Amino acid sequence: MSSLLITNGHLVTLDKEDRFIQGGSIYVVGDQIMDIGDFAPGTYQADRTIDAHGKLVMPGLINAHHHLYSTFARGFTPPGPPATNFEENLRNLWWKLDAALDTDDVYFSALLAIMHAARAGCTTIIDHHASPSCWEGSLDQVERAFRDVGLSGCLCYEVSDRNVAGEGIEENERYIRKCRDSDDKQMAGMFGLHALMTLGTRTLDRCADIGNALDAGFHVHAAEDEIDVKITMDRYGRRIMDRFLDFAIPGPKTIFVHGVHFGRRELDLLHSTDSMLVNAPESNMNNGLSVAPILDMLKHGVTVGVGTDGMSSHLISQARAMYLHQRTYHRDPTVAFSEACEILLKNNRSICDRLFEEPRGVLAGGHLADIIVSDYVPFTPLNAETFYGHLLFGLSFARVHTTIARGRVIVEDGQLVHLDEDEIRARCAERVPRIWNRIK
Ligand SMILES: [Zn+2]
Repeated sequence: MSSLLITNGHLVTLDKEDRFIQGGSIYVVGDQIMDIGDFAPGTYQADRTIDAHGKLVMPGLINAHHHLYSTFARGFTPPGPPATNFEENLRNLWWKLDAALDTDDVYFSALLAIMHAARAGCTTIIDHHASPSCWEGSLDQVERAFRDVGLSGCLCYEVSDRNVAGEGIEENERYIRKCRDSDDKQMAGMFGLHALMTLGTRTLDRCADIGNALDAGFHVHAAEDEIDVKITMDRYGRRIMDRFLDFAIPGPKTIFVHGVHFGRRELDLLHSTDSMLVNAPESNMNNGLSVAPILDMLKHGVTVGVGTDGMSSHLISQARAMYLHQRTYHRDPTVAFSEACEILLKNNRSICDRLFEEPRGVLAGGHLADIIVSDYVPFTPLNAETFYGHLLFGLSFARVHTTIARGRVIVEDGQLVHLDEDEIRARCAERVPRIWNRIK
């Protein structure tokens, strides 16, 4: 097994003691961190040594909700009049874009986004995929992109009735079983659902039967916009979480995304079922939606995470958006500072602990060697008391110099080491006009 030694780093361990170690080193064997500290030169002999030159070294970041398939939406204007509400935005843009993707488009859109993620210091992505024209085997294409870049991923296919009833059920089942049957721990599977507003009773029954038997957890949008709440009440006479409970969807492995229109009862149910809630503030702002009650969720003891929801692959900017969003909403300059940072650094890690076998998100022996070296050089003291300020106001704008994922150096000096980004970008640029032309 190959070994790696990172020396002379300003380590932000995020361990139980929240240690900061100046001039610290990390010893990695294979995909595992073996030891960290300020050990003397020569303590460990490694195949390769990286001198961090006093730069900030921290665990790789985790994206708790992404849509890698959305990559080629950049710059695209859907035909017809502009969407005036959330549902029109889904119908005019996202449901047309995902239907226009072929198998290779699925691979390349994922590849490009995962490369961007790696360059932004992200090493694990929990993705929510849709490609109705080529759903069968589509998660294998997304997985291929993860393996080509080297990041860890948790994948699912978003089942809905919007094209064909129950589309994607078999893909979730197949992929979850494939991950289960494999000794490989890089990839994991969940059971994906779009949202209650696109899922009929028969489909939900099937999903619940298969998903609960597999016990991989569900990954589903919930109460993102009022329309989801309204359709669920009008059609079924149920509030969102009550309807999910009818099908035993909530639970410790289940991720509900957004929860913008969750009230006290929903928060109680999230807590009592130990379900997870992931917010994506930039996405909510982009769609002109209301603000999720994140601070109330935390007070209720809910595990709240943060994801980018296809808006970008940059996590620190997302935590910064969450912080600013909540302060604006509450008109209170005392809230959401440490909360936004802890949601990104600690809660996203807790979410992964429920979905993956390997622990990550900490610089400590026995953890996955997901490590980033940032080009950030602080000009004010950096320690446990000041770190969150550096994270939101400094690191959010700093280049990631080195990204190590699963013990392998995949980004060095800001560039992908083993992939030709220019060539991949050029191939994507060729494909995208054909995708856009398929959208009527
Ligand atoms: Zn989403």
